[in-house]
Amino acid sequence: MPITIPTPTSPAHKVVFVNASSLKALACADRYTLEVVQGWRATIDPDVFAVGKAVHKYAELRALGNDDLPAMAQAITTPGIKDKQQVYQACAGYDKANLPAVARCNGEALVEFQFCVKYDDYIINGVTYEVYLTGRIDRVAHSRLGVELIDFKTSRKWDFNDICNAYDHDTQFLFYYSIARRFAYELFRGDMTIANDAHAGRLFTRVCPIFPIGRPNCSWRLGPLWSPSEELYNEFIKNLRDIYVPYLVTLQAKTHLLSKDGMFKNLCPGCRVKNLCLHERPDGMERVEYNPLTW
Ligand code: SF4
Repeated sequence: MPITIPTPTSPAHKVVFVNASSLKALACADRYTLEVVQGWRATIDPDVFAVGKAVHKYAELRALGNDDLPAMAQAITTPGIKDKQQVYQACAGYDKANLPAVARCNGEALVEFQFCVKYDDYIINGVTYEVYLTGRIDRVAHSRLGVELIDFKTSRKWDFNDICNAYDHDTQFLFYYSIARRFAYELFRGDMTIANDAHAGRLFTRVCPIFPIGRPNCSWRLGPLWSPSEELYNEFIKNLRDIYVPYLVTLQAKTHLLSKDGMFKNLCPGCRVKNLCLHERPDGMERVEYNPLTW
């Protein structure tokens, strides 16, 4: 479901997007500055990301009513796919997954469901920073239990519980849950029964691992329904307003001097911008304008 991305209207107006990835990057102010404010990212996606994108495309097309073959034909055209067999193997498990039916708002299927809600304005040094909360939910389902926000995760791991545990209390899910509940009437404005359930907290996130990628017996299996406690939900909403977003706007205003923040929190192993930050080597990286819906 494509949406319109707001754009700045003058030099004194900046649009700031907050998604789950940018919140995670906030753990290190340097990382947020390099990845989000300056827009550095890896030039070539590792193969597993390309397969992941192809599988998401396939799931989207199937949910929209396409048959297996046309959906597959389109999925394997995803840029970066080196081994089509991996995509065939991964998608073969889709029909056995017993996925819940996709919910609809105003007749539109809520698949690869993008949201972009206005949050607040902040003024720093005469510049207005207009903040939007954004994200993309792979699949939304609605049943008598409530609203399910399903996220497909491709993995090379073999163990289902290992994969689910890796996402236990992941920022992405708390972010999706909290935004879908707090802004239920904006996200689901085309269907009041979905909006009412989400607003009342009859709302869950759910991982659907697709694993092990690269193996012939790759399967899709729904993880448990998850929702935060009321306390955690309320705390997150409060912290978003009082701490996370105001801090992030100061980083956008470029008042931050790089200080190797993450080093002292041991966040550097695995950091995607460490060659730039720790070695000043931009090999294999490029600078592109940050797009909250693809990053
Ligand atoms: S390498 Fe370490 S200090 Fe530098 S951006 Fe990454 S996490 Fe932060």
